[in-house]
Amino acid sequence: MLFLAQSRVQLQSLHRNAALFAASRGVADLAITLSGKPVISSGTGGRSSRTGRVATVFGANGFLGRYLVSKLARQGTVVMVPYREEMRKRFLKVTGDLGVVNFIEFDIRNMDSVEEAVKNSDIVFNLIGRNYETKLFNFNDVNVETTRRIAETCAKFNVERFVQVSSHDASPDSPSAFLRTKFEAEQVAREIFPLTTIVRPSPMVGQEDKVVRKIIAWPNIVVNNGAQVIRPVHVMDVAAALKKIAFDDSTAGKTFELYGPDEYSLDDIRRLCEYEGLIRYSQISVPKAPYAWLTDKLNKLIWWPIGCADEVERMTIDQTVDKSAATFADIGMAPAKLREYLGGYVRPWRGNLFQDVAPDSIQERKREREFIHITR
Ligand code: NDP
Repeated sequence: MLFLAQSRVQLQSLHRNAALFAASRGVADLAITLSGKPVISSGTGGRSSRTGRVATVFGANGFLGRYLVSKLARQGTVVMVPYREEMRKRFLKVTGDLGVVNFIEFDIRNMDSVEEAVKNSDIVFNLIGRNYETKLFNFNDVNVETTRRIAETCAKFNVERFVQVSSHDASPDSPSAFLRTKFEAEQVAREIFPLTTIVRPSPMVGQEDKVVRKIIAWPNIVVNNGAQVIRPVHVMDVAAALKKIAFDDSTAGKTFELYGPDEYSLDDIRRLCEYEGLIRYSQISVPKAPYAWLTDKLNKLIWWPIGCADEVERMTIDQTVDKSAATFADIGMAPAKLREYLGGYVRPWRGNLFQDVAPDSIQERKREREFIHITR
């Protein structure tokens, strides 16, 4: 009798220890999605784990898309990557474990391919966007019609979450057609899929951005002496926020504005780049009208991105913040300050003489400046 009681206690403690171990390692967990569907995640949150969710990222090979795919795939969310050009998406494969990142060739005008990309997913992100019009797609096609088709497909296949990436300053009264159609796309998405979460990022900074790279490239052509005011945000903060938003069902149906903590004019950012890069970055300020006319003409003649009149128009719009929209703080995040990360992107462009100078304090920086003054 005593023997039986002892073995029962031992078995109970073994069972308790196994449960504790599983819980502490996060080995398996059950979550219920918005529609009541159970999702089982497994693993400890590393590369070989699985979150039990499938996400489709339209625009995955773009600047923001690549960081979002990486953040999703590295913790085992199966990612479907609809792509148009074979060579421009290959680098995404290694962002996740074997079988996690999957490619589907698509054309937004071919609904079968859009359905193929969406039908198995719980979460769909629409990151498709283009700063200029092309021969095949104008702003209405890229922003509004693309969103309409994706939202309709999400509704058809009862997708749990649809996240529409719009833009800062999206407004029906904007002088920019790009920003007007971004706003229209938001309305279309909400009409078709009422629980759409709209995310409006600020101009994003990162390795492949259009803010710092424009400054360090030559010629840096601006209007109004670079007086446009923006609130730059780090691309990885936006990608991390998108992931958080998609996994947090309380964000469904909300609008987020993701902006950086500080305001800068383009000229301020140029001067910060000079400070970090120890190089002079000049800018050429031109009158708006002839510049807009010229870029529009060139955009139609040459095949690499050169901008367009609408982009020039956007260079004159100071960023405004919609105070009624949710932001980083509502999902428990604090975006990084531009000064904290800018150096990392500018430093590689320093002259070889100064590559190894890494001052940690202001005093060191001052000494470094004196040293440069003497050597130049
Ligand atoms: P990118 O220009 O880097 O990427 C755009 C993506 O959209 C690419 O994957 C591109 O695919 C795809 N795409 C463009 N046109 C089409 C089309 N006609 N059919 C199918 N796919 C298309 O954009 P970002 O990553 O910089 O921006 C992501 C989103 O965030 C966009 O909606 C953008 O408007 C918005 N945004 C961006 C900001 C920024 O600072 N970058 C600021 C505010 C908003 P492909 O490679 O095949 O052309």
